[in-house]
Amino acid sequence: VLCLESVRKTYGGSLVLRNITLDVPAHTVTALIGASGSGKSTLLRCVNLLEEVDDGAILLDGAEITDPRADQDAVRRRIGVVFQSYNLFPHMTVLDNITLSPRRVHKVPRAEAEERARELLGRLGLADRAGEYPDRLSGGQQQRVAILRAVATRPRLLLLDEVTAALDPELVGEVLAVVRDLKEQGMTMVIATHEMAFAREVADQVCFLDGGVVLERGTAAEVFGAPRESRTQDFLRRIT
Ligand code: ATP
Ligand code: MG
Repeated sequence: VLCLESVRKTYGGSLVLRNITLDVPAHTVTALIGASGSGKSTLLRCVNLLEEVDDGAILLDGAEITDPRADQDAVRRRIGVVFQSYNLFPHMTVLDNITLSPRRVHKVPRAEAEERARELLGRLGLADRAGEYPDRLSGGQQQRVAILRAVATRPRLLLLDEVTAALDPELVGEVLAVVRDLKEQGMTMVIATHEMAFAREVADQVCFLDGGVVLERGTAAEVFGAPRESRTQDFLRRIT
């Protein structure tokens, strides 16, 4: 689904992504792990075209999205994104938050969009919150709604950047359960996370980023169970 070829990204002279080559097959989960500042968020922002790459190419379903002639809006319509701070629209109900993009951008009729939104909410046990405004929900509920909003348009690819980092520990589990559920449904995802136990459980592929390069990549069992690089070993020892 997603392919990065020798992607390089600088911010005002400092090299943040050096030479990232990465392949994300359909229906798989890729976890990006690594220290703060290693480039995880920048990588996701480049994929979503929120940042321009300096060099290299990013392909979505075989088409180069980093080509200046690519239709950026069309690309973004095919990629769902959820960040650390749940950014629901505060002046809209849960239902309107979820149906906004399907209706406005994808031209799904209101009744159909609302039916699907209610079905998604029902699956999370949030059916009775459809008419609420975000500030009446817990952080975990808000973040789950934010994920639903991102998948309501049936994206090809879902990018999750530290979706549990802003949550109280007791709310983390319910958000991770949603990600687990999406994996079971076959959603292709790239997840930047500091939740190592979760990455180990859910990821088909784990990439350890260090100073803007993928220093080590493998299955969860390989990277967590038998890391080859000493820097990966140090990182895992420090945080687990
Ligand atoms: P964290 O785990 O803390 O979220 P990260 O791996 O997501 O870290 P990035 O946010 O991608 O790291 O940052 C990588 C590097 O790029 C850092 O050195 C950061 O200071 C730099 N950086 C990120 N965004 C910008 C920006 N908009 N302008 C300049 N430098 C930036
Ligand atoms: Mg980050």
